[in-house]
Amino acid sequence: MNYRSTRGNKQTLPAAVAIIAGIADDGGLFVPTSLPKVDTAFIEGLVGSSYQKRAVRVLAQFLTDYTDEELKTCINNAYGGQKFDSASVAPLTLIDEETHVLELWHGPTSAFKDMALQLLPQLLSTALRKTGEKAEIVILVATSGDTGKAALEGFKDVEQTRIIVFYPETGVSRIQRLQMVSQKGENVAVVAVNGNFDDAQTGVKHIFNDTIFNAELKAKGFQLSSANSINWGRLAPQIVYYFSAYADLLKMKKIKAGDEVNFVVPTGNFGNILAGYYAKMMGLPIHRLVCASNANNVLTDFLRTGIYNKNRDFHQTNTPSMDILISSNLERLLYHIGNGDQGQINAWMTELQSTGKYDVGAAYLAKIQSLFWAGWVDDAQTSTQIKSVYNAHHYVMDTHTAVAWHVADRYKEATGDQRFNVIVSTASPYKFNESVLSALSGESNEGNDPFTLLDALERLNTVKAPPGLASLREAPILHKNQCKKEEMAMQVKNLLQNLK
Ligand SMILES: *Cc1c(COP(=O)(O)O)cnc(C)c1O
Repeated sequence: MNYRSTRGNKQTLPAAVAIIAGIADDGGLFVPTSLPKVDTAFIEGLVGSSYQKRAVRVLAQFLTDYTDEELKTCINNAYGGQKFDSASVAPLTLIDEETHVLELWHGPTSAFKDMALQLLPQLLSTALRKTGEKAEIVILVATSGDTGKAALEGFKDVEQTRIIVFYPETGVSRIQRLQMVSQKGENVAVVAVNGNFDDAQTGVKHIFNDTIFNAELKAKGFQLSSANSINWGRLAPQIVYYFSAYADLLKMKKIKAGDEVNFVVPTGNFGNILAGYYAKMMGLPIHRLVCASNANNVLTDFLRTGIYNKNRDFHQTNTPSMDILISSNLERLLYHIGNGDQGQINAWMTELQSTGKYDVGAAYLAKIQSLFWAGWVDDAQTSTQIKSVYNAHHYVMDTHTAVAWHVADRYKEATGDQRFNVIVSTASPYKFNESVLSALSGESNEGNDPFTLLDALERLNTVKAPPGLASLREAPILHKNQCKKEEMAMQVKNLLQNLK
């Protein structure tokens, strides 16, 4: 199985090379040149297996240049040991006869980014070995919070890699800052940038685009790279949990092999739900993928009209991980819907850059609507949903999950579809203490001490706070670097001299 760009390059590359490159030379994203197909026997064969074994079977379909042994090692390093606080890694929790929640937040940072960012560094490090690439890969991240910590945890002490995370001094929560500045690992660095998230992000982009600086690093044996969600090595690991959830439904005898189910996914960059699309195209019996958004409802409009238009107000919501107006991974879906029409995709992406919008027209839209349904929810409805599910089931969910739950109900009302809905849960409620507690109590908790809130939520929840968050109270601060936004490149240079 090879990979090619969504946009124009005809060149095809093995997975390992695509994972090292991250993004294609023409600015496009790497996609598989064909989609592997599996049958019922394959799916039934997953039922008795651990998550790790399921992952090996599913990923072997896509990462054909990795040996089974390599995949096994990568996957055990990512999901084995004590890294996840659930033996099932991605457990399916039964709430009532109709509702299952797929919990993707049992990893080290308590959010779904761990599912991919635990495995990507392993796949990358193995790719370097396989291809004989000698450079040390230096991952640069600008973060508004969650991704930085998840990337740090994934890359810490991974061979032939180093990671430098820049976070804005203003703009991350206290918990998020503590998570990062207490990060352990010999190859990690964390730097506070004097400025906001945009400043940090712009600084990192400048560093990536500075050819002289990059040549200078290269001479010293370093190559810059990013861990963002367009890397195929971040997308592929997410396909696994759709299969795993289906296998668990079979195991619990909630469905029979071949029965179709729906997945409802809280969506931002379209990475998570796109992995569901790949699972469906491989033959997993999924009826609809339901795309749940917040007030930044650009995807809802797109999936209803075929017009993608990012020219609209940006809203800061109580589901910050979905506050996104450009969903990069949509490009991959369009590529497959159009059977690989690179010229068309390139034209739309160019239009998006220059005008902020594009229209895919009736034929694409009809195909897309046969696979997806979409809805969105405002902050107040999100809070109400948390409260009503808590009252009915004593289940505490985070805001992003609540968006999905609400849209799942809307989907049922609108379509009368009686199939099973799996609600995809992307964060531990403890990660969003303030919003979750406010939803449950009806009172604002703004400005309250985050650890007081953690304790308060623990009193209402049968599930304990994740150790990774609770232990931050005493965690020693290991990273005190600070820099001005103009000094980020200099920081990178200095850190590379000092980091082991
Ligand atoms: C990243 C994230 C999302 C959005 O996922 P995409 O793959 O970007 O669509 C949803 N919820 C949480 C908690 C996240 O961290």
